[in-house]
Amino acid sequence: MCTTYLATELIREFGEFDLLEHPRLVRLNPNVPWKTRGNGAIALKLGNGSGRPKTIGELDGKPVECFPSGTNTKPTEGHYERACRVIEDLAMFEDANTNPGLIMTSRKPPQALYWGAVREVVDLKRHMALAKPEFSKGWKNNRGLIGAISAVAWRPRAPTHELIAYREQIMWGKPRNINEASVRKMDRAFPTTFNNYDYEEMHMVIAPASPCPILYGIRGDKEQDLPEAAAAVRSERIARHMIFLTNQGTDDHITRTSISRLEPFTSVSVIGNVTSAPRTIKGGHLIFSLSNGHNVVDCTIYEPAKSFRRIGEVLVPGDRLLVMGGVREKPFTINVEKVRIQKLANVREKVANPMCPKCSKRMKSIGKDQGYRCSCGKKVGENEAEFRALRRAASTGWYEPPVGSRRHLSKPLKRM
Ligand SMILES: [Zn+2]
Repeated sequence: MCTTYLATELIREFGEFDLLEHPRLVRLNPNVPWKTRGNGAIALKLGNGSGRPKTIGELDGKPVECFPSGTNTKPTEGHYERACRVIEDLAMFEDANTNPGLIMTSRKPPQALYWGAVREVVDLKRHMALAKPEFSKGWKNNRGLIGAISAVAWRPRAPTHELIAYREQIMWGKPRNINEASVRKMDRAFPTTFNNYDYEEMHMVIAPASPCPILYGIRGDKEQDLPEAAAAVRSERIARHMIFLTNQGTDDHITRTSISRLEPFTSVSVIGNVTSAPRTIKGGHLIFSLSNGHNVVDCTIYEPAKSFRRIGEVLVPGDRLLVMGGVREKPFTINVEKVRIQKLANVREKVANPMCPKCSKRMKSIGKDQGYRCSCGKKVGENEAEFRALRRAASTGWYEPPVGSRRHLSKPLKRM
């Protein structure tokens, strides 16, 4: 089921404790073949709070608060059984991709476990051995445990927040009633929020497509702007809402590397020169080749990226690019998430044959790429012709897909 909804159910179940942090919504490696669609995990830090709490959501008509500090609670067998019951009541085990995992721990696992799970393909046994949770339960293939451990192991660096609003249960599965114009208005009025609305596809990205309990989610840099942004959206009744601390829009999944060292299932940032003019293949995908002088890799912008593929109309061999994206195994390619044109190649066009340096007459072409010859017998090379530099249609800088086709983890240019 919807993992974030489960978080709100667990907050209710453990109402005798205080939240010592926002509930976490942590996205993990988007290239792992056996992941769930959003590949997200949630984590709650529960204990006895101290300091001045702030309101971060609403549940059963009551505000949910979170404390700036406090003391952890040691988990007990009783806590563990209660958490398992909540998950078993809600999880949809019949879905092949639902492989829940739960851990309860009073020790924060090493942060390397987060970086491994967001950037690489990790080993469950090793994750468990290093995290040593007091209690753990994996259902079905146990892989959910990797997410659970990694969400707790995460040390946020420049995190974002997401306010998630949930529907009344009678509305689940029915078409969502959200006023589209109010979403566009909210998007323009709150510049610290991102990925709200796709103006190209005229599509509300804040609302999921699945029949889950979520009505919408608003992502942003400034947590304090989110409740106001949500209030600007006109919609059906909201049954509960919660602000999550997330790694969405951070580029945490990206590893800076070289074209010569690409590993499948990772996400990379590489620099190279375009070596073949971009071409569109069956299905509307755009492909170009990128080289670092030693190795060449294909880069693909898939059809769902829509207008992002237009970059193919302007790239020419020799352009220097920084490309970010996920490395696919078959076909071996970088699935491009973002591009920065660092340097445009000089493109020139021939305007006239060269003049003979001896007799100042126009020379004649010997043949394609073979240079020029004068009637006096003098020969010169191809580069002696008269050229003029062409203005390039492209400009240097960043390019990204439209709002509706970005990955959860990709940092939007707006945030860079
Ligand atoms: Zn001559």
